[in-house]
Amino acid sequence: MASINGDGSRPTIDATVPHPARRYNYWLGGKDNFAADRASGDEIEKKFPGMRTGVQANRAVLGRMVHHLAAEAGVRQFLDIGTGLPTAGNTHEVAQRADPACRVVYVDNDPMVMTHAQALLSSTPAGRTTYLEADLRAPSKILSDPGLRDTIDLDRPVALMLVAILHFIPGRGAAQPLVDELLEALPAGSFLAATHFTTDFMTDAERERYRSMQAAGRIDVWPRDHAEFGALFAGLDLIDPGIVPPSEWRPDAGAEKPDPRLVGMLAAVGRKP
Ligand code: SAH
Repeated sequence: MASINGDGSRPTIDATVPHPARRYNYWLGGKDNFAADRASGDEIEKKFPGMRTGVQANRAVLGRMVHHLAAEAGVRQFLDIGTGLPTAGNTHEVAQRADPACRVVYVDNDPMVMTHAQALLSSTPAGRTTYLEADLRAPSKILSDPGLRDTIDLDRPVALMLVAILHFIPGRGAAQPLVDELLEALPAGSFLAATHFTTDFMTDAERERYRSMQAAGRIDVWPRDHAEFGALFAGLDLIDPGIVPPSEWRPDAGAEKPDPRLVGMLAAVGRKP
């Protein structure tokens, strides 16, 4: 598939620069990461010790969201942008457990994810999975990609998964037009499932420390508050329980409830009426 960044450049695998997918893999306890990813992960975690808890809560809610969408809401098509390195509970595995005919298009702009795409393409014979190396900052390219068009039918409901990716789109208001453009292309009955890093649960002193690390270019995760995250769901009907930390979004019975201050994320699912 075509591989191109939003700015037109081709992404490359650079082991010396921390990459979100590999750092996330490190925090999840995976092996697909380099020294630069581990150093960046450790530095962030030293200052904000909840990171690992947040990442694990995020990965878990991704599975619960997909399960809910496939098993309870009847969704059979998924567009998962910001796939990450394959790990337990990939979107198609969870969805195809509910119905083997589910179809999933995975999109990521990290070439290292591409090298692992085989693991993302192990579809059931009844369903289908496709991987596109493409960029969230160019929604029209994603939507018009022949690989996507061959896999999902944009006249039928699609669950758009933007899980732990929008905080890599820096700038106040910068995520909104991308989400709007993607949702615009999907029919009524489609869903948006998203999670996002937030500093809402931090103390003022922590938030200040976060801002100064950001200003110094030592952290590449752009937080959004409840209001800005909520605005992404404007025009959609929020599914119960609305906008909550991932660990509180339809938790499994008896699941541990980590402190939202440690999780540091917001999660929600909305349905396009
Ligand atoms: N959704 C998965 C993985 C999140 S990690 C989960 O929640 O478990 C974030 C992923 O987004 C990484 O794999 C990173 O490579 C990808 N990503 C970041 N910015 C992107 C962009 N502009 N376009 C496409 N993918 C992007």
